[in-house]
Amino acid sequence: MEWLRRLEALPDSIHHFKVRVTELADDYLATLKVRTPSAYAAVWRDYQLRLSLESQAVYDELSDLEGDELQRTRKWQREEVESRSLPANFGIRTTYEAMSHPKKKGQFILAERVQCDDLETFLMLDLLRGFAAGHIPRRCDHCGRFFLLDSGYDIRYCENEAPDAPGKTCSQVGAHIKERRKSKNDPVIGEYKRAYNRLKTRKNRGQLSTDDWNRQVAEIQNLKEMAQRGDISLARLKEMLNGF
Ligand SMILES: [Zn+2]
Repeated sequence: MEWLRRLEALPDSIHHFKVRVTELADDYLATLKVRTPSAYAAVWRDYQLRLSLESQAVYDELSDLEGDELQRTRKWQREEVESRSLPANFGIRTTYEAMSHPKKKGQFILAERVQCDDLETFLMLDLLRGFAAGHIPRRCDHCGRFFLLDSGYDIRYCENEAPDAPGKTCSQVGAHIKERRKSKNDPVIGEYKRAYNRLKTRKNRGQLSTDDWNRQVAEIQNLKEMAQRGDISLARLKEMLNGF
């Protein structure tokens, strides 16, 4: 009966965990300006603090109640607070055992074996251990799915296949979008592209041989790089590109 009860509780506990972690990631973690283990720890403190303040506020309202009504409302309050929070306090059983080293033959490691009473406890333990090590879930800016941010860098895109570009990952598509946005605002790239497009039109019309096309594109690329290094001014670049 105990095992059946635990099995029946699985869907609800997975759902509860998913909803609460999503809330934590979207409302608390997504707004972070810096992504360091210290910032993650502060987020967890803020999250816990909000839950305890909410719980206290409900508790204060109970002071007028008596008898059965008080008991019923207290029970409701406990369930309400529980349903809206991620547990930070749970029981696990831990033992330490010597195991064969997974890679080095003939050697041993001391391994920690953890036993959880239910799935949600295991998920919470895994999440919090990840948190403590500086790993956090983040929503991909491109596909909206979660991925694990584990480097401390401000990475915005996941490495899964992008839904709108088969064969490419979100980070490949994202880098491309960023590059395009950057070049749109960069006057040097803008000038270069205008000259490049003029040359391309002439080539397509047959007014430019392949050799001339290759040579002239190399020349305007060279000018672009000189302007990017600051060797020539933007005005000088414009003037020189007008010759193409
Ligand atoms: Zn993605």
